[in-house]
Amino acid sequence: MSEASRDDGSVSADGQAVGGRRTGHDPASEQTPIPGRDPSLPTADDEALIRRLATCYHLLVATDFDGVLAPIVDDPERSRPLPASVDALARLGACPETSVAIVSGRERRQLQAMVPGAERFVLVGSHGAEIDEAEPDGESRALLGRLTAELEALADRYSGFFVEVKALSVAAHFRRVEEVDRSEAVEAVGRLQQDWPAKVVSGKQVVEFTVTSANKGDAIRALSRRAGASVAVYLGDDITDEDAFAVLGPDDVGIKVGPGPTGASWRLESPEAVAGFLRHLADGRSRHRT
Ligand SMILES: [Mg+2]
Repeated sequence: MSEASRDDGSVSADGQAVGGRRTGHDPASEQTPIPGRDPSLPTADDEALIRRLATCYHLLVATDFDGVLAPIVDDPERSRPLPASVDALARLGACPETSVAIVSGRERRQLQAMVPGAERFVLVGSHGAEIDEAEPDGESRALLGRLTAELEALADRYSGFFVEVKALSVAAHFRRVEEVDRSEAVEAVGRLQQDWPAKVVSGKQVVEFTVTSANKGDAIRALSRRAGASVAVYLGDDITDEDAFAVLGPDDVGIKVGPGPTGASWRLESPEAVAGFLRHLADGRSRHRT
């Protein structure tokens, strides 16, 4: 997988690679940009693309949640998907030979609470780890407990530093940390990355320590295989979504949402643009596959 570098390296809260493997610091990897294509990609609102997706035999539409279905907000608890996107996904899911999945870094039970009519969709939580009922083993649970204690100590030190404990991971959120403290807080988390044998994934103002090795790419492979999909579409906005883009085949469609380098071939500007694309796709698929 071409984006595998992220899984060994550490990444700062703003998504820039800052180097350092969990087994030791590697100065050579400092400031390494995320591998990917030129950000000037064609927009996914393309008639020929929509037609191809609308008419393929079995379509899998898989999408990230935050920053794609739901606009990013300061408080992750208040994040909500755009109703137009949920409606379009439901219409797609009602078409024959069409599977719909939401693949998120959030826990699956959180997705169930946040997505209206969630039972209509396949929900995959914890960056792909919660594709089936997932329970950490004893060793992973102990590691999760120790990491959580370390991060909670940092939360006591930095105002606004928020620790989110999930089934298979623990995340440090920097979004509400005072500007003056932020780089110090990011550095402190960076030191933890050196010391603990957890997989580190990082996104917008968040660093997450995961005690399993599954990623969104594994999830997309599994979903695609289970559905017997002839074409898979994946939409994502963040670094962890690059794992999913990396496993897509030549007939599949990766759509990066928002700016930044990516391995995806298409781009949409915002969650609002995603809603437009999904509506367009649902219209086309309903017409061709009913
Ligand atoms: Mg996201």
